[in-house]
Amino acid sequence: MRLAVLKERRAGETRVAATPETVKKFLALGVEAVAVEAGAGLGSGYPDALYAEAGATVAPDAAAALAGAGIVLKVRAPLAAGEGEVDELSLIPRGALLVGTLEALGNPDRAKAYAAAGIEACSMELLPRITRAQSMDVLSSQANLAGYRAVVEGAAAFDKGFPMLMTAAGTIPAANVFVMGAGVAGLQAIATGRRLGGRVSATDVRPAAKEEIKSLGASFVGYEDEESKAAQTAGGYAKQLSAEFYAKQAEVVATHIAKQDVVVTTALVQGRKAPTLVTAAMVASMKPGSVIVDIAADAGGNCAMTQPGESIVTDNGVKILGYRNWPGRIAGAASALYARNLLTFLSTFWDKDAKAPRLPEEDEIVRGAVLTRGGAVVHPQLLQA
Ligand code: NAD
Repeated sequence: MRLAVLKERRAGETRVAATPETVKKFLALGVEAVAVEAGAGLGSGYPDALYAEAGATVAPDAAAALAGAGIVLKVRAPLAAGEGEVDELSLIPRGALLVGTLEALGNPDRAKAYAAAGIEACSMELLPRITRAQSMDVLSSQANLAGYRAVVEGAAAFDKGFPMLMTAAGTIPAANVFVMGAGVAGLQAIATGRRLGGRVSATDVRPAAKEEIKSLGASFVGYEDEESKAAQTAGGYAKQLSAEFYAKQAEVVATHIAKQDVVVTTALVQGRKAPTLVTAAMVASMKPGSVIVDIAADAGGNCAMTQPGESIVTDNGVKILGYRNWPGRIAGAASALYARNLLTFLSTFWDKDAKAPRLPEEDEIVRGAVLTRGGAVVHPQLLQA
């Protein structure tokens, strides 16, 4: 079975779905040949020569990379007709297994197109968040790096520094850093803020998050009531809560945020626009020179003034970094972890005799990720829609 790795063509995507390390491991696993489209790794610091050294063939274009492929690895969904310069989808051979973060729930027509093209598609962001799936969990690996990068960029944009600096010329106080949302990205942001010497506090709505915040040495700031005691779904995600709850939470946040130097927002509610946690009035209450880093910008942002994709300075001198694709801002590491997630997924379901992946329908991980089989859409969440 041949494996193809394409260059990512969607706007702002710097990552790549395989690295020279994973290419070597796929070949050791029994993949017959790996074709990497020329330039695929450049945005992540992996030149073509390193892929060739690892045993891949460097293909001049998408068509050449995809010729005869049985497995196609992608970061984002392949471009379909009219989406860009190349109709990648039409070049994927029938029967091939496509693995990537295909964002199919937000784009149900995509899964229908894969089914019609006879492609077996796996959407890696839909894997269940269970212990057995942890090493394949692309959301976790990417969110972890996004949380780290957000603090580093926040620190660079903040023109005072994070640790308390005692010098002969006087003392610079430690920065107050506030992390909103303490999931995977938020917990890494807390740890990074602490490592840099900031005075870190954090908030979340899930009761389990409070203990995790404290265990990292940050203080918990938040509103808790009977509703928030049940704020977590069985899958571990935050639920959408009532307007009354959000109003109470906003009161607590409003008094706290005015004293913060760097605010990192990471809050998401699955399948919805990101909740607005920082209002324009809160931004107006902040000191000039303070920084908001909104890593929820891809989902609309947690700050009302965030302009997704942009870095802005407000009239009162607050910098708001609302870039999209935070993992893509640390592309070398993000690609390395993403590529390992895909390798682990495929090697977990590898049939040594057939030298091909075999995805058993009854497996919980497979059921979570597989969108299409045998020309039909099979994912339960898409069938419900
Ligand atoms: P996420 O990206 O969906 O959301 C980020 C955080 O925002 C969450 O902690 C959420 O509670 C928080 N949030 C939502 N609304 C908020 C609000 N109004 N105010 C403040 N915070 C708010 O979450 P995630 O990082 O993907 O993690 C989701 C869960 O999955 C967590 O419980 C995590 O521990 C769990 N998880 C488990 C595994 C595993 O066992 N394999 C792997 C990864 C994550």
